[in-house]
Amino acid sequence: MDVIVAGAGPAGSYASYRLASMGYSVLNLEEHREIGRPVECTGVVTSRVFGYVKSSAVANRLHGANVFFPGNREMHIEKSEETTVIYRDSFDRDVSAMAISAGADVRLDSRITEVKVSVDSVHVKYRHEGNVLEATSAMIVGADGANSVVRKSLYGSRPSRVVSTYQVDSAVRLPDQDSVNVYLGSESSHGFFAWAVPTGDITRIGLGTIGPGARDLFGRLQKRFPEGRILSVTGGPIPIAYLSRTSGPRSLLVGDAAGIVKPLTGGGIYTGIVSAHHAASAINEAFQSQTFSGNSLSRYERYWKSQLGRELWMDGIVQRIFAGLSDSSLSRIYSMLSSPGVVEMINSVGDIDYPSRLVIRILLRHPAILMNFFRNRVVPGSADA
Ligand SMILES: Cc1cc2nc3c(=O)[nH]c(=O)nc-3n(C[C@H](O)[C@H](O)[C@H](O)COP(=O)(O)OP(=O)(O)OC[C@H]3O[C@@H](n4cnc5c(N)ncnc54)[C@H](O)[C@@H]3O)c2cc1C
Repeated sequence: MDVIVAGAGPAGSYASYRLASMGYSVLNLEEHREIGRPVECTGVVTSRVFGYVKSSAVANRLHGANVFFPGNREMHIEKSEETTVIYRDSFDRDVSAMAISAGADVRLDSRITEVKVSVDSVHVKYRHEGNVLEATSAMIVGADGANSVVRKSLYGSRPSRVVSTYQVDSAVRLPDQDSVNVYLGSESSHGFFAWAVPTGDITRIGLGTIGPGARDLFGRLQKRFPEGRILSVTGGPIPIAYLSRTSGPRSLLVGDAAGIVKPLTGGGIYTGIVSAHHAASAINEAFQSQTFSGNSLSRYERYWKSQLGRELWMDGIVQRIFAGLSDSSLSRIYSMLSSPGVVEMINSVGDIDYPSRLVIRILLRHPAILMNFFRNRVVPGSADA
């Protein structure tokens, strides 16, 4: 076996697809019995994702956002480009089908429990239908999500910043089917935000918060939708800080396993697929040169960072600043953002995959926003926290 790919989420399936397309033998091990389930996602992506994956798993198309600031002050943002809400389970199956068509061996119900790297190979143990099986390869890709076993076994590190989430599918129809609702402030979240995403008669309502407590905060968010009946509940951790090292001898980490996720929104489908794309390129070069050392594979870091590194780094800083804003600061920021010209700027420059361009332009226009942060930070335990 040339490559073992751990996990068949979007990142693992895309890496498997690309490597198999290049002619490598790929074993893609997935712990669940079904690709794409359980769903732990809201499914909001930009059209960039469809440049990589052909999928028609579309639940809705959005063109705007209603942003609610503390005190229920609301701002509407209108976008010309469309944002797509996908059915995440079908989407994941589409990516996995691409991998299978390209020749990857996708094995379900196969939970990796142990990973060892020696000078000349990678050795994994996995549980399949109650039995412990083993597999050997030249390389391994850790695409096994936020709680990656590959990362724990080979890297011994974890993302330094993690958002916990709680989300429900609610049987309630939002009047505005064309916009996502975003809720800011301490009533909805500590340091992140809450959302309601319309998909017809079902709305995906959820929140992320830095640290634990997502379930408790959800009770308050739910009061905004008194008529909504809960159909299903999901959630899970989102790592929003990438690791200082995402490559090592005979191994690479992609997607959530590496913390390659957009810090401001928690979106990781696009970034996971992009990192998988670059992982396949780096692995191809490793096979060509027959060098699988950590040093040689570090080219993977250069590749993915050339496309995402600056953005994720900047967004990480902005996220930390945002997370420290008190409700009163957010209210003042609302007043500044509502000023003439700024909403138009948000409409024209805003991009959920690359938000730093907009943030920089807003800060240049309103440097006082930054001052608000230093003047009025949330102090843990204070009344505003
Ligand atoms: C509530 C919530 C809402 C979100 N909303 C959005 C959104 O709107 N847009 C967006 O872009 N992102 C969103 N995200 C983030 C997004 O879901 C992830 O960033 C994305 O799934 C990362 O893809 P991945 O392939 O790296 O990891 P995953 O999708 O987590 O896939 C990892 C796979 O590995 C498997 N696995 C794990 N451990 C093992 C093991 N030991 N052996 C074998 N297999 C294993 C898992 O079963 C899983 O299939 C959201 C996340 C949450 C929690």
